[in-house]
Amino acid sequence: MKRLMFVFPHPDDESFACGGTLAKCSDAGQETCLICVTSGCKGRSGPFALDSREALARHREQELAKAANILGITRLELYRYPDGGLAEVDPRELAGRLASAIVEWRPHVVVTFPPDGVTGHPDHIAVCRATGMAVEQAEQVLPPDDWPDLYFVSIPHYYDHCPDKGPAPAVPITGKVDITRYRDRKGEALRAHQSQVYSVNRAYPGVMEGDYGVIGCYEYYTLVRSGGRPVKPVAPENGIPVMEL
Ligand SMILES: [Zn+2]
Repeated sequence: MKRLMFVFPHPDDESFACGGTLAKCSDAGQETCLICVTSGCKGRSGPFALDSREALARHREQELAKAANILGITRLELYRYPDGGLAEVDPRELAGRLASAIVEWRPHVVVTFPPDGVTGHPDHIAVCRATGMAVEQAEQVLPPDDWPDLYFVSIPHYYDHCPDKGPAPAVPITGKVDITRYRDRKGEALRAHQSQVYSVNRAYPGVMEGDYGVIGCYEYYTLVRSGGRPVKPVAPENGIPVMEL
């Protein structure tokens, strides 16, 4: 059975970036693990009056659990590092923890944000770095047959919809997963993050009202490491090929 591990810093990153892919993997009988490194206590609280960061963190964990349920995520791990503070965390510490998770769970595929973090958020960039280090550390321990492929996920639609467009993608996209049949599940998962109504409305207008028409039919990936070696991503000449993770 194929196992796929997704590593993101905040509750909701998984639904924005990979919601359709996660649902598709689940329906294919594959196991998915989501590691959420912070609990998003610095985020907005949307319509909810939460009087402390701790209360917001617990609330967002509940929203994440709901989204994970919708997406059929097999295993959800909360690391509860400080939201907005990952750039100050020793990357070796976070990488060590992630490496242990990889060695224990032995995913075939690991997915995280690209080096620009898609949005430029320092937490996104820090998680990208630590996850790359973790995969290399895990390779030191695991037999070669168990070395995972490492992918970055990009969100081109983020750049399309957001008025404050992020940086140009840091790496060329080398493959796209067809999520046509999973757009509703992605929309439902996004809606589970009710406190993040502002972010969802900005990137996916209409989704919070149950109109999933703005959700695209593909999610976009870049293979950057395989078989214990870096893969230099090359932009495909004739359009981005459809792939499965
Ligand atoms: Zn995030």
